[in-house]
Amino acid sequence: MKVLVINCGSSSLKYQLIDSETEQVLAKGLCERIGIEGGMLSHTPAGKEKIETSVDMPDHVKAVELVLQSLTDKENGVIDSLEDIDAVGHRIVHGGESFAEATLITDEVIKAIEECNDLAPLHNPANLIGISSCKKLMPNTPMVGVFDTAFHQTMPKKAYLYGIPYEYYEKYKVRRYGFHGTSHSYVSKRAAEILHKDPREFKVIVCHLGNGASISAVKNGECVDTSMGLTPLEGLFMGTRSGDLDPAILEFICNKENISISEMTNILNKKSGVLGLSGLSSDFRDLIEARDKGNERAKTTLEAYAYRVAKYIGAYTAAMNGTDAIVFTAGIGENNKDVRQMVGDYLTYMGTGVDRGKNETRGEEAIISPGAARIPILVVPTNEELAIAKETVALVS
Ligand code: ADP
Repeated sequence: MKVLVINCGSSSLKYQLIDSETEQVLAKGLCERIGIEGGMLSHTPAGKEKIETSVDMPDHVKAVELVLQSLTDKENGVIDSLEDIDAVGHRIVHGGESFAEATLITDEVIKAIEECNDLAPLHNPANLIGISSCKKLMPNTPMVGVFDTAFHQTMPKKAYLYGIPYEYYEKYKVRRYGFHGTSHSYVSKRAAEILHKDPREFKVIVCHLGNGASISAVKNGECVDTSMGLTPLEGLFMGTRSGDLDPAILEFICNKENISISEMTNILNKKSGVLGLSGLSSDFRDLIEARDKGNERAKTTLEAYAYRVAKYIGAYTAAMNGTDAIVFTAGIGENNKDVRQMVGDYLTYMGTGVDRGKNETRGEEAIISPGAARIPILVVPTNEELAIAKETVALVS
């Protein structure tokens, strides 16, 4: 089956056309600055150079139209006609408590996604626009919604409730939801396969360390805890997000700086994390380079980052009464050996760690703990698009 995977943001749209049998990406691309002047479409057919076209896209329907044109283009297309697209898989950020798995998109499903809009006001409306734009241009193609939150819906109440008046959960559904679920699900299954374990009898801690970062505890194939919360702001430090902090800090800084709560929230989302701490960059490559040149703040930032990852690993080991494996994934987890080493150095109490030689790996599946380690530590590249395509195929076929 050929599945078009769509990840639609408020002004951007990423796509991949995937052959689900061969797991091959036939083409991928990105529309940027939708609804803003200076639009740009980049399209990369498998085995060819990226083609960049400046083109204004007043709305998402126009963007989807251009994507479909690129895919069917005589010269740089990869299919003959739209009929060749068997299904569309849409990444949807927030499914609230309504979606514990991927779902065929119907009018009722669209309504239920709309009801989650105030839980993810920046993301869900954009995801819905992606769905309606595709439906307009491909009315007969089945569409599936794959939710970032769905995999975490198995968390028990004790893990997802906050210590605040219960009525806020009842009235407003304020609770931990967790994100990156497609990645945590895919990577935890892959880890079981690599280690020849039955996923139904396997405890694993997945460290998804990208620009956004989260950790999950996955027990017997089900998520039992995860570090992101009501929104993707909680948990680890991230590129620009603060992660966990004392909630009283908000009012304290608002008063000192004379700023509003929404300005403060913006700072916590966009100017905090490793960018805020280092004052340098949100990109770990820059931080490592600066540290190696003797920059003390970059060094401290990296230490604080690794320390928090290690603390979560400890917490989730406790939550599952042990773990059978620890996995690193996403941009930093897959590529940054320094961060993996620094985290691994905290884990000797568990009878494991990161082997310097094996840790030289980058961007591919590997076991990086010493052969004698009690708990294997792995690198497993995530592939959210392939996971979305697979979930889509499972539902439509
Ligand atoms: P996003 O959450 O935006 O998908 P990514 O998973 O791409 O983020 O992670 C971005 C981070 O991963 C950056 O801090 C960057 O330093 C790191 N990273 C990504 N690719 C590489 C690479 N090839 N080598 C080293 N670091 C990388």
